[in-house]
Amino acid sequence: MLLTTHPPEPHAKPRFDDIFMELAVNLAKRSHCIKAQVGAVLTRDTRIISIGYNGPPPGTHNCDEEFPGVGCPRDSKGSCSLALHAEENAILYAAKNGSEIEGATIYVTLSPCIACARTIYSMKIARVIYLHSYAEYKGIPSDEGVDFLRRFGVTVDRYEPGTGVTLLAEPPLSGPVTDQKTARTPERDSSIG
Ligand SMILES: [Zn+2]
Ligand SMILES: [Zn+2]
Repeated sequence: MLLTTHPPEPHAKPRFDDIFMELAVNLAKRSHCIKAQVGAVLTRDTRIISIGYNGPPPGTHNCDEEFPGVGCPRDSKGSCSLALHAEENAILYAAKNGSEIEGATIYVTLSPCIACARTIYSMKIARVIYLHSYAEYKGIPSDEGVDFLRRFGVTVDRYEPGTGVTLLAEPPLSGPVTDQKTARTPERDSSIG
């Protein structure tokens, strides 16, 4: 298992929330985007129905290889203009394959942006659990995606590790972020300086 429990108690069990968030964190590390790495796990009835991480559609761009150092083309909000978001990738794959999405729970390492929030709501996803705040990451006053979802009845919770559980690693986030976040610079950025 990737989860660590301490003190090591033979009967301590990670919750599904811990297991799925740990997976989302690990998926985030697969992202080629150099703005931020975000992972998502879509589940239903405690079973995984899809996964995703942010990045341009397969067969198009790999941001880290094409735009090293300078970064990928930004949209008006300073985000990668080429990438599908982790939630979009997870939901699109599930929809493409005919999975039942209504009532699902999605785990994301960064709270949904407003565009993803609209999609999450439209797909009737019932619960969103996020690790980091998009508003804190962007330096904007409110989590508009979270506000939108809560306003229209979607349960949104910030992830809190279960008793004795620690996520093995946190996803790297780069960009205009708080000091706490800049401390988690992606490894490859250290060679860029
Ligand atoms: Zn990018
Ligand atoms: Zn989004």
